[in-house]
Order: sequence, then structure tokens, then C-alpha cells
Amino acid sequence: MISAVMPTYARADLAFERGEGVWLYGTNGRRYLDFGAGIAVNSLGHGHPHLVEALTQQAQRIWHCSNLYRVPGQERFAQRLVDATFADTAFFTNSGVEAWECGAKLVRKYQSATGQPERWRIITATGAFHGRTLSGISASGGEKLTKGFGPLVDGFDHVAWGNLNELRAAITPETAAICVEPVQGEGGIRPATLDYLRALREIADEFGLLLYFDEIQTGFGRTGKLFAHEWAGVAPDVMCIAKGIGSGFPLGACLATEAAAVGMTAGSHGSTYAGNPLAMAVGNAVLDVLLEPGFLDQVDRVARRLWHKLVPLPERYPTLIAEVRGAGLMLGLRAVPPNTDVIAAFREAGLLTVPAADNVIRLLPPLTITDAHVDEAVAIIDRVCADQVAHA
Ligand SMILES: *Cc1c(COP(=O)(O)O)cnc(C)c1O
Repeated sequence: MISAVMPTYARADLAFERGEGVWLYGTNGRRYLDFGAGIAVNSLGHGHPHLVEALTQQAQRIWHCSNLYRVPGQERFAQRLVDATFADTAFFTNSGVEAWECGAKLVRKYQSATGQPERWRIITATGAFHGRTLSGISASGGEKLTKGFGPLVDGFDHVAWGNLNELRAAITPETAAICVEPVQGEGGIRPATLDYLRALREIADEFGLLLYFDEIQTGFGRTGKLFAHEWAGVAPDVMCIAKGIGSGFPLGACLATEAAAVGMTAGSHGSTYAGNPLAMAVGNAVLDVLLEPGFLDQVDRVARRLWHKLVPLPERYPTLIAEVRGAGLMLGLRAVPPNTDVIAAFREAGLLTVPAADNVIRLLPPLTITDAHVDEAVAIIDRVCADQVAHA
């Protein structure tokens, strides 16, 4: 008999009753070091006092009023995002894929509004993940996401990740934009080189295409800069963000330059819930913390500590860990045995991690971790690996 909750997830038999900082407390009475952060979502950990305060204060005033009216929290949050990024304007959403989809619509609308309606196709990369709507899975490609859901939405051309020759060859008079993640997340923590990102900017300019970065997973401090593309010193025309932006409150946004958003006029796009006062209160509170002087420097510092402690693992445990890769606090261990087995062993030892494609184990801790949390996580990883080798 089918479960009352539609069985679309492979869930661990574990539930939590409480979270505090980097720790989650299970209903089984055990506590876990959370290096998954709800899949890169709880950017400031669990129960951050500033966020709890912002949400509960807002809950006393007004939850929702729709976008028929001005929402002061939106105006403030949008202005702060604009001030902190390449963008001139922001559209708020409730989830990642809606933010991504807003960008996909925006790039088509840009071409049509600027007299090139024939340019409507978007180039995406193999191994990409842009979300689970019909157009999201069509853009992502990949059998695991798309099987049985066809016919897919037309208008996406997939090229090999990191391959500029293939990308150039895929550009036609119908191409509107290039859309990539600076570090592929679900695809297995596969970082673009900075040169690749710079070349995408040049190619987009050369061919009159918009450059669209999906920073849903890489954004909001995850890589040690506010956005991952900042490492490359190039800016996109359009960017979607979500996950860490609300630290656990459902929230996303699509950011764009004024030129790119030329077609996004009143009535062109919308959402009932999106950008409601609760979400905006939390988003603004997350940004308060992220923009504190020194916060991102600390993320970068602690991330380097974690990186240096993980790098020796493949040599120490060649039968378990094949490779360490990633950026900032978005790191992947490519496993030798099935990644889910290793993740279960980590979990049993008190460390939560997240699977990804390419047999990768993702480490996505809250950005608020300290050296002590890093050392504890690495000690657990080390202990589990040593134990598995001993019992192999
Ligand atoms: C998680 C993710 C999405 C989809 O976000 P949802 O909130 O699950 O809709 C899209 N793109 C990337 C890069 C992601 O990591």
C-alpha cells in the first residue's frame, strides 16, 4: 500500500525534534553534527537567535498580503541585494526552481523585447541541476530526472560541462542564453574553472546572448564570497538564488541587470505567496549576518581548514575515498563504495552529509561552523574510514 506521504524520497529512518547551531537532536535521543544543512539551506545553522527574532516579530504583525500591494520588506531586501551584487532588480520566489524558471522566462523575454524573438533556446550543461518542474528537468537533462516525464519542454541544448568548443558549436541563431551553475551541486560538486566562467562571459558578449548563473546552491556565502562567480571576477546578466538565502525559510530570488529585465513589465510574471512579509523578514535577517564585516572572511578561513584536513583522505583511505573537490563550504568526497553506504556509516557515527551524483558525498555545513566543528567532523570521518578499512 502506498504511504500517505507520496514515496518520492529515499529517506533515512531518522527524525529530528530540535536544532541548535550546527547540531540536530534526533527523536532517538542522539545528537548529530549537521554537515548537510538541509541541502545547503540552513546557512546560519538551526535556531539562529537573530532569525528567530525576525520571524517571530514579523509573525505578530502581518504574514501575507499578496503582491497587489507594496511590501516594504521586499523593497528593502531587493535594494540590499542590488547594492551587494551586479544586479539592478530582483523578483522573489518561494523556491529554487521558481527562481530558476523566472530567469529562463526572463532571457526569452529579453530577446523578444529587443527584437529577436527567434532567439529562445538556452544552452545548459550535462550534469546540471536546475530543479524539478517540467522545464527544470528539461533544462537539467539526465535520465534520472526525466525518465517517464516526457515529452520534455523544448528549448534546451545540453553541452558537455567545462567544454568550450562544444559550447561554441552549439550556439545557433536561435540561442538566447547560456545557463550554468558555477559549481555543479546535485551533479556531484563539480566546480567550473574560473577561466571557464570568464570564457562564458566573453562568448555570451560575442554572440549577443545573456549569461545566466544558477547560484541556488553556490550563493549566499557558500563558497566564501557572497556569490561564487565573484571568484572569477565576471558577472552574469541574470542569476537565480535560493537555498541559503532564507536559512530554512522557503525563499528564492531571480536577480537581473536592468538591460536583461527589459521585458519584465507589470503583469508579465508573478506569484501569489512570493516575497511575503514573513519570507522578507527572514531574508533581510540572513543578509544582516552575511554582510557583517568579516563574516565571509571567516567562512573562507574555516573552509580552507576543512579542505586541508580532507585533502589527505584519498591517500589515507584509497579503498573508500577517491577524490576531494569543491569550493568553500561546498565540498565533495567521491566515494569508492556506494556513497549512500558511507553516508549511512557517517550518520551512525553522528555526522550528517548529503549524497550527490557521481557517487559523491557532499559536505555542506552551516556557514557558522567553527574550527572545533571542522575538527570534530573530520575526526568522525577519519574514525569511520579507519573502522571500515579495519573490517573490510
Ligand atoms: C536545489 C537547486 C535547485 C532547485 O531548488 P528547489 O528549491 O529544490 O526548487 C535548482 N538549482 C540548483 C543549482 C540547486 O542546487
